[in-house]
Amino acid sequence: MEIKSHIAILPSPGMGHLIPLLELAKLLALHHDFGVTCIIPILGSPSKAMIGVLEALPTSVDHVFLPPVCLEDDLLGAEPGIQISLTITRSFPSLRDVLKSLQATSPLDAFILDTSASDALEVAKELNISPYIFFSSNATVLSLLLQLSKLDETFSCEYKDMPEPLRLPGCIPIHGRDLIHSIQDRKSEWYRLFLRHTKRLHSVKGIIVNTFRDLEERVIKALEDEKEAGYPPLYPIGPIIQTGSRTSNEVDGSKCLTWLDNQPGGSVLYVSFGSAGSLSNDQLNELALGLEQSGEKFLWVVRSPNNGPANAAYLSNQSHELDPLAFLPEGFVERTKGQGLVVPSWAPQVQVLSHGSTGGFLTHCGWNSTLESIMNGTPLIAWPLFGEQRMNAVFLAEDLKVALRPKENEKGVVVREEIAQVIKGLMVGEDGKNARNRMKDLKIAAEKALYPEGSSTRALSELPFKRDFKPRRF
Ligand code: UDP
Repeated sequence: MEIKSHIAILPSPGMGHLIPLLELAKLLALHHDFGVTCIIPILGSPSKAMIGVLEALPTSVDHVFLPPVCLEDDLLGAEPGIQISLTITRSFPSLRDVLKSLQATSPLDAFILDTSASDALEVAKELNISPYIFFSSNATVLSLLLQLSKLDETFSCEYKDMPEPLRLPGCIPIHGRDLIHSIQDRKSEWYRLFLRHTKRLHSVKGIIVNTFRDLEERVIKALEDEKEAGYPPLYPIGPIIQTGSRTSNEVDGSKCLTWLDNQPGGSVLYVSFGSAGSLSNDQLNELALGLEQSGEKFLWVVRSPNNGPANAAYLSNQSHELDPLAFLPEGFVERTKGQGLVVPSWAPQVQVLSHGSTGGFLTHCGWNSTLESIMNGTPLIAWPLFGEQRMNAVFLAEDLKVALRPKENEKGVVVREEIAQVIKGLMVGEDGKNARNRMKDLKIAAEKALYPEGSSTRALSELPFKRDFKPRRF
C-alpha cells in the first residue's frame, strides 16, 4: 500500500495568516494527496469570518481546534504580536498532545508553522518533527527579517532615523520609516520578541514563501545566494490566494455581487483595509467625502473607526463590533445611493476583485490582498496602515509601479481633495491606465508561475518532505 506523506500545519490567530495557510493545506491535500491536519490555536472565541473559512475546507483537510486561550484583561490591549505569541506558548500542552496523537497514527513528515507561530518550533524539536516556516508575506519582507539581527547589531538609532534608505540585496532602497511596523520602537518588549522570532527563521529546514519568481526575481536570487551563509532553502510557491469561503455574512456578500452585476465594466473602485485595518474618525470622514467628491463608483467595506492603533481589530471578534455605518458622515449613504455601496466589516473580496465591474482597489496593501489583485489584474491605490504594509506600498508604487499613492498632510491625514484626485487618477487618468497595463502583465506572469511547468509548481515539487510526490497542481 502507498504510504501518504503526513503533514501538520499550525497557523497563527488572524485571518491574513490563516487564509493562505489553509490554501496551502488544500493544495497539499487535494492536488498532492498528502494527509494534512491543520491545528488551530484560538484566542477567545473564533470570529465568524474564521468559522466561515474553516467550514469551507474540503473533507480531505482535517482541522482540530486547540482549547481557546484567554488572556488577562491587561494583555488584551497589548500589541497583537504579543497576544499571538502568548496564545501559541499557552497552547503548548494541547499542541503537544495533538501532535503526539497524530504521530501515533502515522509519523509526521513535516510540521509547517506560520511565521508568527514560530514559538512552537520548540515543540517540533522536542518531538523530532522536521519544521518548515510558511511566510505569508513576500521575499522582500523576508529578506529584512533574515537580516534583522545583523541590522540590530549594526545600527544603534531607531530605524526611522537612519540617515540613508536601507539597501537590502535585490530590493529597491527603503526608508527606515517604511520598514515593518514591529521594528519601529526598539525599546519595546515587542521588538525584543520580534527579533527572537526572526532569529528562529534560520533554524528551520525550509521557508515556503507566498510569492513567485517573476514578481521578486532579484530579491529571491539574492536570498538564494546567501544559502552558504546559513540561510534556509527558499520555496517561492505563490501566489496562493483564497479559493472559496463562506462569507461571514451571506446577505451582505450576495448584496455586493448583485450590486456589481448592475454596474458598467471596470467602473467600480473597491475599498477595503483587510481583515482588521481601521481608520480614525477624522480619516473615515475624509475618505467618505473624498469618495463622494470623486464622482467615481465605489464599493466600500466600512469598519468602525479606531481610538488607537490601526490594527486594534486584528484579533478581535468582529461580531461584537458596533454598526460601522453609523460612523459615516450624515446623509452620506443617501447622497451616494446611485454612486456607491457601503457594506459593514466584510465582503467576499476574491469574488469582488474577480468581478468584471471592479476596475480598481483602494487597499491597505496586506500581502493577501495584493496577490488577489495581481491574480485579477486590478490596479491599486496604496494606503498602508500597519504591519509590513508600508514596505509593500513602496514596492507596489515605486518598484512595480502598479499603485498610486495618496499623500498625507502634516497631521498625517489624507484629505478629501487628495483622495478624490487620486481616485480619478486611478480610474480614468493616464497613471491609472499605465498601472492597469502593468498589473495585466503581472497577472499573466502569476498565471505562468502556476502552470505545471511554472516556477511555483516546480518549487512546490522540490519540497523535500514528501515520500511519494508527483506534482499535479492543475
Ligand atoms: N478579506 C475578505 N473580505 C474582507 C476583508 C478581507 O475576504 O472584507 C480577506 C482578503 O481577501 C484577504 C484577507 O482577508 O484574503 C486579508 O489579508 P491581507 O493580507 O490582505 O490583510 P490582513 O487582513 O492580514 O491585514
